[in-house]
Amino acid sequence: MSSEFEKNLDKYAEVILKVTLNLQSGQKLLITSAPLELAPLVRLIVKKAYQIGARLVSVLWDDEQLILTRFQHAPRDSFNEYPVWRINSILEVINEGGAILSFDNETPDLLMNQDPKLIMTSQQSYFKNIKPVLDKIFKNESNWAVIAAPIDGWAKKLFPNLSYDDRIKKLWDIIFDICRVKYEDPVSVWKQHAMQLLERCKYLNKKQYKALKLIAPGIDLKIGLPKDHIWLGGYDYTPNGIKFTANIPTEEVFTMPHKDKTEGVVTATKPLYFDGNQIENFKLKFSKGEVIEVTASKGEEFLKELIKTDQGAKRLGEIALVPNTSPVSQSNLVFYNILVDENASNHIALGRAYKTNIKNGQTISDDEFLTAGGNYSLIHIDFMIGSDKMNVNGILEDGSVEPVMQNGEWAF
Ligand code: ZN
Ligand code: ZN
Repeated sequence: MSSEFEKNLDKYAEVILKVTLNLQSGQKLLITSAPLELAPLVRLIVKKAYQIGARLVSVLWDDEQLILTRFQHAPRDSFNEYPVWRINSILEVINEGGAILSFDNETPDLLMNQDPKLIMTSQQSYFKNIKPVLDKIFKNESNWAVIAAPIDGWAKKLFPNLSYDDRIKKLWDIIFDICRVKYEDPVSVWKQHAMQLLERCKYLNKKQYKALKLIAPGIDLKIGLPKDHIWLGGYDYTPNGIKFTANIPTEEVFTMPHKDKTEGVVTATKPLYFDGNQIENFKLKFSKGEVIEVTASKGEEFLKELIKTDQGAKRLGEIALVPNTSPVSQSNLVFYNILVDENASNHIALGRAYKTNIKNGQTISDDEFLTAGGNYSLIHIDFMIGSDKMNVNGILEDGSVEPVMQNGEWAF
């Protein structure tokens, strides 16, 4: 690889540690779901983490081939089992005030030929076991971040006609673009970008819209927002004040819908890839916050099962606004990876809401959170609903209506 590539890779690692995770000197760091394939990048991040002053860096490696091997050879009745020690190791680092960096890397079609029931069982077992970690993450108890980097299964899905070298190089180039890495000083570019998202949040937080109305072809959805909801974007904060950006790339500002107050119809604008399952052209109908009808041209059964996970799985936990001209959207690619795709345009999520999206959320009890309109579920599944044809209106307390987005772009 060229020296230009090395330079960008270095800057990418720099942005991840200094802005995204904002790793503090003296902190411990755990890197989870690190793909073996990306060992050079992981080593670079570990080296930089120590240079910043990390006390101890540990890595939980992952290998997709081993996931596949399990599906091919493990006993069929064993898929509800989970290596709990992995969860405990994450909890240990969070409890000691350490930072968590996770890779969100999947070959979209990895489990394509596997039994959907087994996938569902292993997925539910994962969600059940990861719960204590998510309880802490959804309250930002420590600084955490999710990143993605080119693995071959992913690159191949995006560019099936390119050679190995070319597709990896091309995907890296796009990642550097959408993550704003190519600038001379990407760390300050990121800080500026995060501040801009924060300004959008300030405006929306002052408005305290009672509801948002989303209109586009196939979409007529009213999303009620709870009292004292908070829009977040750009920066998150731990209780002891570490400012971090949980995702890279990130273009969204988001808040939580009231779990009982979504009405109408929504059609996804991009397919949803979830654990080797593809859900396409799906449409959800809501009444009193709950999904009452599901249709999809592909993966309908899987989606129906997914929303049966628990009570909260058929309600919304997030509404996020992203201008349609974001760098991710301008790439004109479907990335088959929600970490990236969710930054292309507006999206909503089925399942758990972030406690940080409501006043005093980091301290209120689970019951108080539910009473305030917060949704609880084992799952949190984002899917894309935005396009250049979407208008979003804000409905104020007195019933008057203001434009928030027009044709997919900010209206303020
Ligand atoms: Zn989001
Ligand atoms: Zn989300």
